[in-house]
Amino acid sequence: MLLRHTPKEIKERKALSINPAKTCQPIGAMYAALGIHGCLPHSHGSQGCCAYHRSALTRHYKEPIMAATSSFTEGSSVFGGQGNLIQAINNIFTIYNPDIIAVHTTCLSETIGDDVNQICQKARNDGKVPEGKHVIHCNTPSYVGSHITGYSNMLKGLIRYFSKSTGIKKDQINIISGWVEPSDMREIKRIAQQMGVKIVLFPDTSDILDAPQTGVHAFYPKGGTTIPELISTGDSKFSLALGKFATDAPAKDLNSKCKVKFKTIDLPIGLSATDRFIVALSNAADVDVPECITEERGRLVDIITDMQQYFYNKKVALFGDPDHLIPLTELLIDLDMKPVYILSGTPGKGFELRIKEILAESVPNAKIKNGANADLFLMHQWIKNDPVDLIIGNTYGKYIARDEDIPFLRMGFPILDRIGHSYFPTVGYSGAMRILEKILSLLMDRQDRDSLEESFELVM
Ligand code: SF4
Repeated sequence: MLLRHTPKEIKERKALSINPAKTCQPIGAMYAALGIHGCLPHSHGSQGCCAYHRSALTRHYKEPIMAATSSFTEGSSVFGGQGNLIQAINNIFTIYNPDIIAVHTTCLSETIGDDVNQICQKARNDGKVPEGKHVIHCNTPSYVGSHITGYSNMLKGLIRYFSKSTGIKKDQINIISGWVEPSDMREIKRIAQQMGVKIVLFPDTSDILDAPQTGVHAFYPKGGTTIPELISTGDSKFSLALGKFATDAPAKDLNSKCKVKFKTIDLPIGLSATDRFIVALSNAADVDVPECITEERGRLVDIITDMQQYFYNKKVALFGDPDHLIPLTELLIDLDMKPVYILSGTPGKGFELRIKEILAESVPNAKIKNGANADLFLMHQWIKNDPVDLIIGNTYGKYIARDEDIPFLRMGFPILDRIGHSYFPTVGYSGAMRILEKILSLLMDRQDRDSLEESFELVM
């Protein structure tokens, strides 16, 4: 019982988080920057922060994560990190030759008040940025928000620096992706291709964080949104922003900078959210939905019909990122399951309201919480008071699952104790099929494990 000290009795807490259901802003900024071709993320702070961010991403994606750091010491912590960053920019272009250095800040550089925009400008003025190369930045103070805030902030930085409007619209749609796996980004591109829609997907970590093993190390793998594509986002005729918490603000920025109209919708996780994505893409590009997509949907509906009897009324606790939890909760309702506890460490208005709307008819008394005090300690207390049949969340949920002996589905970020998750999409109709298959396997494995010998069935 690793969590044996978690009491059943719930007390109001204001100043203390225990086992937060989120991680730190720069990790999100780093992940977003990795989705740009030829881009090297740069952490403006101490080596420890950068090492932690890189290791969190490496452990999840099982790929070496390249990133540089300003390597603050005591001196830079007191007098500012301008000298370190300018020297770093010079060194990085000389040694590693990226097309873009994407600088994000850390708690330390934010607290001492480094003006990173001014420092980057000074580096350009001083000739430290070679012709045709770029240094961009965003602010990611980790004492507010979460990794999702950092991801969103880096997307805003990319738009601020690259997106340009020539006044002539291109026949293409921007898809601003929330934080999903490289395989999900690949799946979004596959769906758009099947629909015959030209898209600019950004960021795009496919073929970067799931690049094939060739035996030769590529410092900058072939994937990622390219600089010309990023520039052209300002001329696209529409933007679809997938996931309000990660992408609504960048889509708004692009609209105010380049007048690209947009619609923010949920990440296409599950049947209903994928339906909305397909309809939105079809409307934005003015194309019909092809038969192959309708058939894929039909297969998902068929699987749901076959499985529904096993899902009915099963209680679920889920935690993670809000853009995942909203469509996932909706999927569970579509399956006739009962999402009773929903919790996200990422702050932000509208989360609770949106989940309440989804659950209004089926689970009106569900417990929902987000923000700093929405932590796994509280989730464990909820479960101790009234257990569930399934937990869905990142690796950190395994402690609760073990102590309470509850089936556990790993979804979200980070997954540190399994391999392969980033290679299989959970978005789209085929992604939903995979989620369903995993949930059912967990529930039936449990039934097999717990059934008496006389009721142990071959056919279930
Ligand atoms: S929370 Fe702040 S100090 Fe800690 S790793 Fe993240 S940026 Fe660094």
